[in-house]
Amino acid sequence: MWYTYTDNPCRHVIEYDIGIFDDRFRITESEALGRIQSAEERWEDAAGQDLFSYVPGAEFKINFIFGEEQEKRYQADEISDSLDSTKDEISSTQQQYEQARADFQRKKSSYDSLLAQYNRDVEYWNSQGGAPENEFNKLEAQKKTLESRLAALETARKKVNRLAEASNNTINDYNSTVETFNSLYDSSYEFDAGNTDGTEINIYSYDSLGELETLLVHEFGHVLGIDHLDNPESVMHYLLNEDNSLGNLHSDDIEALSLSCNLD
Ligand SMILES: [Zn+2]
Repeated sequence: MWYTYTDNPCRHVIEYDIGIFDDRFRITESEALGRIQSAEERWEDAAGQDLFSYVPGAEFKINFIFGEEQEKRYQADEISDSLDSTKDEISSTQQQYEQARADFQRKKSSYDSLLAQYNRDVEYWNSQGGAPENEFNKLEAQKKTLESRLAALETARKKVNRLAEASNNTINDYNSTVETFNSLYDSSYEFDAGNTDGTEINIYSYDSLGELETLLVHEFGHVLGIDHLDNPESVMHYLLNEDNSLGNLHSDDIEALSLSCNLD
């Protein structure tokens, strides 16, 4: 939205104050003011004159109105943090799974060769028509060892299965969180984050202090009577995009300022 001044908008310094300041925006009022002042300076540097001035109690208000859009952005930030920690969890569970599987395989091959040995011994003594007492006792001891190794093997196998399941569950959680994130993200980034009717500026949402400043530069531009420009690199383009996200004035912005304010 923009507002056409019939008068030269640069003739008088526009005094402004912060109006509504919703503290659900996770910034302080003084941080906000810092960004407002940096934003106004960009135009003032280009114009070579004072254009805006912070005056507590001034009629022109800059309002910070916390809406659904900003809530979504914060939710998206939180989800993105939780995705990072889930990713860490997945890789640690997978590491444990690999270790458990290696441990199981080691135990299994040791059991297999012990069992083969036992079977060979039993077969041998059977072919001899039976084992003498001392050999028989050895075979009994071997059999006991095999039984306890088999139990340990079973425990190791269960651990492998448990970790595989845990790993799959974490991956499923991750995937469904990604879906939630995408549904929030898709609707979050249309650019309708601020507006002005020339008597006040409303800020609804932004991603970072840097983006807030860019938004303020843009809205101040409208207050100076500048309409949207076609060039996506200009701060007065209708979309906030990667080419104008730093809020720097493009030569097209400066040209538009010169026209609007009759600068030489
Ligand atoms: Zn605009």
